[in-house]
Amino acid sequence: MSALLIENAYVAPVAGPEIRRGYVLVEGDRIAALGPMSEVPGAGGAERIDGTGCLVTPGLVNTHHHLYQWASQGLAQDATLFEWLVTLYPVWAAMDAEVVHGAATAGLGHLALSGCTTSSDHHYLFPRGRGDLLAAEIEAARAVGLRFHPARGSMDRGRSRGGLPPDEVVEPLDAILDATAEAVDTYHDPSFSSKLRIAVAPCSPFSVSSDLMTAAAALARSKGVRLHTHLAETLDEEELCLEQTGVRPVDHMEKLGWLGEDVWVAHAVHLSDADIDRFAATGTGSAHCPSSNGRLGAGVARVSEMLRRGANVGLGVDGSASAELTGLAGEMRQALLFQRALNGPTALTARQALELATLGGARNLGRGHELGTLEPGKLADVALWRVDGPFASAVEDPVCALVLATAQPPLARLLVGGETVVEDGELRTVPHDTAGEAGARAHRRLTRLARERGVPVTPEPRRDP
Ligand SMILES: [Zn+2]
Repeated sequence: MSALLIENAYVAPVAGPEIRRGYVLVEGDRIAALGPMSEVPGAGGAERIDGTGCLVTPGLVNTHHHLYQWASQGLAQDATLFEWLVTLYPVWAAMDAEVVHGAATAGLGHLALSGCTTSSDHHYLFPRGRGDLLAAEIEAARAVGLRFHPARGSMDRGRSRGGLPPDEVVEPLDAILDATAEAVDTYHDPSFSSKLRIAVAPCSPFSVSSDLMTAAAALARSKGVRLHTHLAETLDEEELCLEQTGVRPVDHMEKLGWLGEDVWVAHAVHLSDADIDRFAATGTGSAHCPSSNGRLGAGVARVSEMLRRGANVGLGVDGSASAELTGLAGEMRQALLFQRALNGPTALTARQALELATLGGARNLGRGHELGTLEPGKLADVALWRVDGPFASAVEDPVCALVLATAQPPLARLLVGGETVVEDGELRTVPHDTAGEAGARAHRRLTRLARERGVPVTPEPRRDP
């Protein structure tokens, strides 16, 4: 069994006390032990990594994303969520498996470089005849080496049925359920060490029928997989939901059987006290995506209040079309600043922000007992951050240096199940530069395919003086 010993590092395990000068021993794909250097075990033939000047944390967990959006960044920059979606649906309608593979390679590589070891992805557009889009992103995740939780998304309520998306990008309900069941049967691995799990994920209340929501929940529960969707992202959504169903989004989801410990939702920005209490009581989790919410002017999720009332919160970068080049590590800072700007300096601590990014995310994905903390027996998903750079070394608290710095500290090492994905700030699983180039190629291809279909793809118009 391969073994690896990180020595002389500041260890922030998220569960249990921090260790000023400690070690982490990895055997196979698990954490075998951790503790102070005074108790370091004989490492035998283990690879030794000197962690002097480094902080060790659990790998970060990203719980909301749309990887394909890497290919459509920088568009509709000043739009509301609904305006942004209506602008981008026709562009996305042109994507194919090659676009998805390139975008996912770049997106997941970028996430790895920001300390992410597990990522979900919510893919909800499957234009007909464009190849196997789900297989394409799974292949990219395998190559990059991250633990991957793709959520098979869907939309069945186009404009002709009162939904927001054009009819050309939605699928019939039966086809969605068949394809989703097939995705679970083909790919879902429920084992402890799993690197691939599927979730069931109709897109949002304004693009999905109530029938699909109900049937999707029944399907997921019959297969023992998790449920994911967007919820309560903007006030526009709340108004539309009230107009169409007579109730607010959380009430609507409760009626459809969509609150529960097997559900996590993206955003959950506009929640009342009673909504938060229902999230806490039912074990419904949420993915807080502060940069995306800020970019789209959606509002600020009530994260401090959710934590205070016992609701689980993880972090998400959200798709790159609304969050652009947002890395996961920076979302800790963004979350902390949003809460403090609204609620004062004690609203969210650096340690709480780190917990959102790790254990909170692991719980969203139903993996709180496998991931999210450094504890013996858990999976060896570990980030080793170099916090002794010439400018960072004046900060005595390494967790503060990680969470509060605008510039993310470089990664000395990133391990997924004990395997090296990033070393000395460079991807080691796929060639560093080709991962970025794959994303650029995906962008060029999507732009060309969209223009061939008569869809203009234009960056923000210049405002002439
Ligand atoms: Zn989203």
